[in-house]
Amino acid sequence: MKIHNFNAGPSVLPKEVVKKSAQSIINFNGSGLSLLEISHRSIDFLEIIEKATFLIKRIMNLNDDYAILFLQGGATLQFSMVPYNLMNQEASYLDTGFWAHNAIKEAKKFGKVKVLFSGKNKNYTYISTNYHIPCDMDYFHCTSNNTIVGTQMKIFPRTSIPIVCDMSSDIFSRKLDFCQFGLIYASAQKNVSSAGMTIVIVKKNILGTIRKNIPSYMDYKIHIQNNSILNTPNVFSIYTSMLTLKWIENQGGLSFLEKNNQKKAKLLYDEIDQNNLFENKIHQENRSNMNVTFFLKEKNLEKEFNKMWKKENIVGLDGHRYLGGYRASIYNALPLESVQFLIEIMKEFERKFS
Ligand SMILES: *Cc1c(COP(=O)(O)O)cnc(C)c1O
Repeated sequence: MKIHNFNAGPSVLPKEVVKKSAQSIINFNGSGLSLLEISHRSIDFLEIIEKATFLIKRIMNLNDDYAILFLQGGATLQFSMVPYNLMNQEASYLDTGFWAHNAIKEAKKFGKVKVLFSGKNKNYTYISTNYHIPCDMDYFHCTSNNTIVGTQMKIFPRTSIPIVCDMSSDIFSRKLDFCQFGLIYASAQKNVSSAGMTIVIVKKNILGTIRKNIPSYMDYKIHIQNNSILNTPNVFSIYTSMLTLKWIENQGGLSFLEKNNQKKAKLLYDEIDQNNLFENKIHQENRSNMNVTFFLKEKNLEKEFNKMWKKENIVGLDGHRYLGGYRASIYNALPLESVQFLIEIMKEFERKFS
């Protein structure tokens, strides 16, 4: 049975990745052991970490100024780990959505936070580019893709201070100059792997300026020294991410994925715009290519629409519980056919009800 998985996270992964990672749980690399049974300090696992690190650097075109870490605690832990390691006094943040808002809340526990732009009073439907980053801040924090409301930063500001970016929901989805960032973090369960692992990419020379003691697990430098195995890491999620990274390269890397993601997003936004029954509330230039949100113009049709898509094996289309409406998450691994299928359903719904 074909299921069209529009879940926001955990979410769709490449079929072949899921298959291979399932096999590894039964018999890892023909060893007779399960991936879940091997030591995280075994040669086999060290090779996996090494391979995943190598692939991330090659895919993102990063040199050895950057360290790659595979940590636990989700992107949520990064909300406090970032200020723990980088904030002496004051940092600047963009308030572009629910997750950005949470990041700000945590940072305020460590020092002063200057919010350079907040989209809150416009329900986060757009992201300004009209703000100034003071250069005496410890760092600048932004969220590249706002998973819940469905906005995406298309351009990043230039500044001499480190740019820290939460890329949880659009990492590996497009080409960017990744060297412009001081630190990138992304929880794995949106576009890469299973939950319980967070990729952190950090430019080593921005670390070590902090004047306070950092608990070991919260200290990026200690994780770098220990090659992500300070303690027992999420072996399964790291292995699965390595498989996804290979898949990304086999697909043609970020330039292919970017084109494909743009194509999927354009098809869907075009349908929402021309369909009489639906609307998207995001400013054109900030529409996300990963999370497409839309609403029924007439709420009383909700029951009928829900009945229709649920019957067709579409899952995960409900909007976030804070927002309502609908959200189609169309990450890297979501096939074009699933987008086309959803569009057919929307067209049929329009024919029947408008
Ligand atoms: C999902 C998400 C998070 C939270 O990730 P957890 O792994 O659940 O902590 C943070 N930021 C963004 C942009 C997200 O999409």
